[in-house]
Amino acid sequence: MDQKECLGCRIIYSIYSNFPPMPSARAYNVETGEFFPFDRLRSLPTGYEMAEALGIAWTCDCRGRSRTPPQHLGNAQPFGYKPLDAPNGDAETYGGMPIENGPPNTWVENPSGSGQLRLYDANGNAAVDIDFDHDHGFGAPHSHNWDGRSRDLGNAVSILPY
Ligand SMILES: [Zn+2]
Ligand SMILES: [Zn+2]
Repeated sequence: MDQKECLGCRIIYSIYSNFPPMPSARAYNVETGEFFPFDRLRSLPTGYEMAEALGIAWTCDCRGRSRTPPQHLGNAQPFGYKPLDAPNGDAETYGGMPIENGPPNTWVENPSGSGQLRLYDANGNAAVDIDFDHDHGFGAPHSHNWDGRSRDLGNAVSILPY
């Protein structure tokens, strides 16, 4: 294992390499909008290759790789976006963490202890969530991609209903 893997790559690797075999499951590339066999994802040797396969390699910070996010990440999302529910009228946080003005290019762990991790982009806006403590149809953990103030419905792993 490359010891110079960045935190994002290490997180991604630790999540997906520990999944049990799931022959009927498919993973989803958010950049291309294509599904591929989940077992191919979990067998990849590095977190970076997993991130590439998921279309989130731009979150990687290791080995001097560029981190230019795709310009239209949300357009590749087939599950649709829902408006952000703003608890208590506070539109600036979601899940107890800010969606704006976070530490740029940094993974932050949710202080609630839920295990949720949020990646902020270079502008301090929420970019990716990885959720561990719940399963709303996408398995746990799963990821959510942010598009402005909207978060998608979850898409890292999709167990297709057939
Ligand atoms: Zn990396
Ligand atoms: Zn979730």
